[in-house]
Amino acid sequence: MAKPTFYLTTPIYYPSGNMHIGHTYTTVAADTMIRFKKQTGYDTYFLTGTDEHGQKIERKAQQAGVTPQQFVDKIVAETKDLWKLMNIEYDDFIRTTEDRHVKIVQKIFKQFYDQGDIYKSEYEGQYCAECEAFWTPTQLKDGNLCPDCGRPTEKAHEESYFFRMSKYQDWMIKYIEDHPDFIQPPSRANEMLNNFLRPGLQDLCVSRTSFKWGVPVDFDPGHVVYVWIDALSNYITALGYGTDHDELFKKYWPADVHLVGKEIVRFHTIYWPIMLHALGLPMPKQVFGHGWLLFGNDKMSKSKGNVVYPGPIVKRYGVDALRYYLMREMPFGADGNYTNEAMLTRMNADLVNDLGNLVSRTVAMIEKYFDGVVPEPGALEGPDLDLKATFEALPGIVEDQMNKLQFSIALSEIWKLIGECNKYIDLTQPWVLGKSEEGRPRLRTVMYVLAECIRAIAVYIQPTMPSTPARIYAQLGVGDDALKTWDSVKVFGQLKPGTVVKKGEALFPRVDIKKELEAMAAEAEKAEKKAEKADKKAEKKEEKQPAEPGVASFDDFMKIKLVAAKVIACERVPKSDKLLKETLDIGGGKTKTVCSGIAKYYAPEDMVGKTVVLVNNFAPRKMAGQVSEGMLLCAEDPDGSLRLLTVDGDVAPGSEIG
Ligand SMILES: [Zn+2]
Repeated sequence: MAKPTFYLTTPIYYPSGNMHIGHTYTTVAADTMIRFKKQTGYDTYFLTGTDEHGQKIERKAQQAGVTPQQFVDKIVAETKDLWKLMNIEYDDFIRTTEDRHVKIVQKIFKQFYDQGDIYKSEYEGQYCAECEAFWTPTQLKDGNLCPDCGRPTEKAHEESYFFRMSKYQDWMIKYIEDHPDFIQPPSRANEMLNNFLRPGLQDLCVSRTSFKWGVPVDFDPGHVVYVWIDALSNYITALGYGTDHDELFKKYWPADVHLVGKEIVRFHTIYWPIMLHALGLPMPKQVFGHGWLLFGNDKMSKSKGNVVYPGPIVKRYGVDALRYYLMREMPFGADGNYTNEAMLTRMNADLVNDLGNLVSRTVAMIEKYFDGVVPEPGALEGPDLDLKATFEALPGIVEDQMNKLQFSIALSEIWKLIGECNKYIDLTQPWVLGKSEEGRPRLRTVMYVLAECIRAIAVYIQPTMPSTPARIYAQLGVGDDALKTWDSVKVFGQLKPGTVVKKGEALFPRVDIKKELEAMAAEAEKAEKKAEKADKKAEKKEEKQPAEPGVASFDDFMKIKLVAAKVIACERVPKSDKLLKETLDIGGGKTKTVCSGIAKYYAPEDMVGKTVVLVNNFAPRKMAGQVSEGMLLCAEDPDGSLRLLTVDGDVAPGSEIG
């Protein structure tokens, strides 16, 4: 029989900076869930990736003096290293700059346009480049500030395509009402219905002309697909949707769970389903909006300087300690708080005291009393039977909680078994039983029961702490893979008497919390100083540039790309007495459209055939309702009249000038 499938996605992260512990939280949750589903018999598919387009990346790349592609390539490489460090085993990593994605996004955009779901109009609003979000005047904070990040917004006015969301509003409301499991936790469903859908859904701006770093709209040059159609489609483009090789799509779609942060629930539970509905595709089964990982009750952000990166923590305490903390500390769905102190406190209590001690004590006692051989148990009685009952009830409880993505509750249930084992040792007092011959039969049973429980605990913690079970199995002498499966923990008594245990080093080192916090603070300070030094170095480099206004360096001059371009068509811009619109041959079979304020000095028909000088690397801008993709150089008379710079003789269009 074919296994049931399970397709899980993380959001695709925005690589404008390095991934921090917040991204790690989501990705570890996804990996834990996938490992659990694999363990319980599912054919799983795990997708993560990066959302690489947009104005913010374009700007960051410019600041760093690299191309946007170079900028994201570097961060993506570092992201993949981080996921490796965190023991994340994804099946695919989609990048929205990949061909396989870009082509299908263009196809989807065209289909929406052809179907009448997308129409062209004008956009007017305030735009935050940091958040890449438009805001209406009533949403702004203190007049002009972005309500999300508090930065000043800019007035944006441009031609855009819009998705007719309003057309699907009633369908969407009904869908959410009819599918109570679709949005989790349920409180988020009410938020969507009451705050966005019932008041009336606004049509969504889905293209931009003010920046270039995006998926080009292939039937309307100058437009790039704006964020949501590009980003959300990743969940199906990664599976080969819309191509000739869509086996994965057929096998795994619809997704079982889209895991998202609560700030993007709206896009995943309103816009994405509407897009899918418009494409005639089935809905994802569930969108789970988890809470934020806060730092001392503050949202983690670079501008606040309170970002925690997982690297140093993993280096000091191991990946499993961090994974455990992230999954255990916060109820999934609510906001949680990250502090080093809480992480170390949990490590000492849960991992060192509860789990680590149980394993080392049990193995040590089997070595001491039975020469390291797991004894044959006698008939179970009283406390043995209580423990056995807990043991056999646990698979159902854990499965139930994990399927609801309640990692924290599932782990606390597993730790109840660990706690009961520790109590069982106190109650049965093996050190007393070991003193007399009469105690031996009882001691055999107690040691067997403990060893069997520890075996099951190793199975249970595998999804959250993938590298710890092997270390437990090694100490317990469990080599048979059949004893490491989910099925093997459903019935008590699978461990074979006669198994030889071997004491190893402690699973987790006990730490002196005060000392560790000091050491971590010192390390953070050192890293900060290093970063400061690097900043100063960069500043110095900048100082070499002439500071005097009006004096350009050679580097400044080289930034401007001038080319020879041939005018192949020219017309007046309607409703403007100043502008001419020229179509320019810029070589390589490419053309550009430019608007110039020369209508008073040149007739359109006189322009055709001239070879002019074009500034070729300006961002496109809007002039009198037209998109201008560059600027022609002119000489200006003292009286203000303009004459074009032209190139003497015949040169190929696109020839560089400089
Ligand atoms: Zn903002």
